[in-house]
Amino acid sequence: MRLPITATLVLSLIVPAAFAQTSSSEQASIAEHPPWIAPQQPFRVYGNTWYVGPRGLSVLLVTAPTGDVLIDGGVPDDATMIEANIRQLGIELHDVKWILNSHAHFDHAGGIARIAHDTGAQVIASVADAPLLARGGLNDPEYGDRFPFSPAHVARKVIDGENLHLGDLVLTAHSTPGHTKGSTTWTWTSCEGKRCLRMVDIGSLSAPGYKLIGNPKYPTIVKDFEYSFAMVSTLPCDIALSPHPEVVDMWARVAKRKKGDADALIDPTGCRAYSKVARKSFEAQLAKQRQDAALAK
Ligand SMILES: [Zn+2]
Repeated sequence: MRLPITATLVLSLIVPAAFAQTSSSEQASIAEHPPWIAPQQPFRVYGNTWYVGPRGLSVLLVTAPTGDVLIDGGVPDDATMIEANIRQLGIELHDVKWILNSHAHFDHAGGIARIAHDTGAQVIASVADAPLLARGGLNDPEYGDRFPFSPAHVARKVIDGENLHLGDLVLTAHSTPGHTKGSTTWTWTSCEGKRCLRMVDIGSLSAPGYKLIGNPKYPTIVKDFEYSFAMVSTLPCDIALSPHPEVVDMWARVAKRKKGDADALIDPTGCRAYSKVARKSFEAQLAKQRQDAALAK
């Protein structure tokens, strides 16, 4: 459908009212995971890396004099909280220049369209997940149309190994497919004085309820997950982060840090450890599905 320019302009002025409402599946999923919408005070992870998400979904802000980069946007209802957390750090919304996405599911991409609208930031995502973001999560290879969100226009699509430069800040996209086809692990360096650490926001490595065998919408899913487990376990990694903070023991580490262990978040084995646990769980799930398939023959 094409609209006359005046109609397009009018529509663009009322965009906020047009943001998608959460579906019943999404409401049920949020009810199962109350931390996804639980308030969390923003805090410094390390150097120029800040946590600005709700308690149960990691949303990170990486700051630089030339502009700031947000990674992920929580569920749709988190957008207001994330924006308030950014402001609480003394940062203006229009200083956020880019919004990166770890993967195009509603619990990490649901708030992106709104935050992009409010900040004016460009959305950047992998080539492989950009179409899923653009169709607002519809026709997901595993979830179908159960978890829709407001579509986000991807201004820039990145490929595996691509570096993004914003002044001196460099963020690298690592393709870690499986959870979605374009699931991405983002890495960058944060410094405190002369001590610079390698930050890794590990793309989700879980397959919750996934059909791993004979899924015509994602025939290479097993191979992709196996690639990603190996990939994550070899990344240089000082602070492991994840869209789901509990999988890297974020809150236990933060509590330890509050008690005086200044380096509690630093753990060069963090990426390897998460990959190992995720691989074990994936292999058990795959073995069960293979067994069930053999029995059904
Ligand atoms: Zn997901």
